[in-house]
Amino acid sequence: MRPTDAPLDNLHGGRKGLCLVLSAPSGAGKSTLVARLRAEFPAFAYSISCTTRAPRQGEENGVHYHFLSRETFISRRDAGFFAEWAEVHGNFYGTPKGPVEDMLAKGQDVLFDIDVQGALQLKQVFTQALYVFILPPSREVLEQRLRGRGTESEEVIAKRLTNALGELEAAGHFDYHVVNDDLEEAADELRAIYVAGRARAVCRPGLLPGLLAQWGRG
Ligand code: 5GP
Repeated sequence: MRPTDAPLDNLHGGRKGLCLVLSAPSGAGKSTLVARLRAEFPAFAYSISCTTRAPRQGEENGVHYHFLSRETFISRRDAGFFAEWAEVHGNFYGTPKGPVEDMLAKGQDVLFDIDVQGALQLKQVFTQALYVFILPPSREVLEQRLRGRGTESEEVIAKRLTNALGELEAAGHFDYHVVNDDLEEAADELRAIYVAGRARAVCRPGLLPGLLAQWGRG
């Protein structure tokens, strides 16, 4: 079941957009969960990151990422353009701050798919956001999934497994831990976190005053 999108909240003076931030070690299945969430809640705005990595086949500039040269990325970073940025697997990635602030001001919820270092920085900027860490059920399963992609060399797989340890050690800073063992169950948990997050009083600042006004209060 989808939550009502806007009508209830708009009746009472608008709602604040909510940030849902997802991080995970490589191979935990985050991209699949992100795709499912976006398909299920089409009203979700997606934070399009900037990156210095080359586009993969099928990726479009301005849709999947804003693809930038290293020089442009660094000059934007130094100008304070990013809410957070990080170096991941040898490339720079960053979240442009302005577009996210605009979407939130319009009451749009924003989904972030960013790495752990970035999520920890974002916590200082968007304090009301929901921070979710996707965990693999075990080291063994993570390794199998990385191998199963068939695209990564042994060296890259070993590196990703080592990096996963550091990322898991940071997972304690996140609000929610979703174990991606069974995809359906993980998707259910993620949906529940989001739906409950939307009902938080801080996301509906106009709701209570609107109702109280019907009693002549406020
Ligand atoms: P990929 O290159 O495979 O699309 O992404 C590699 C990693 O970079 C993923 O873990 C993804 O979540 C992360 N990432 C994507 N955009 C951003 C961003 O704006 N900031 C940070 N810190 N990480 C990002």
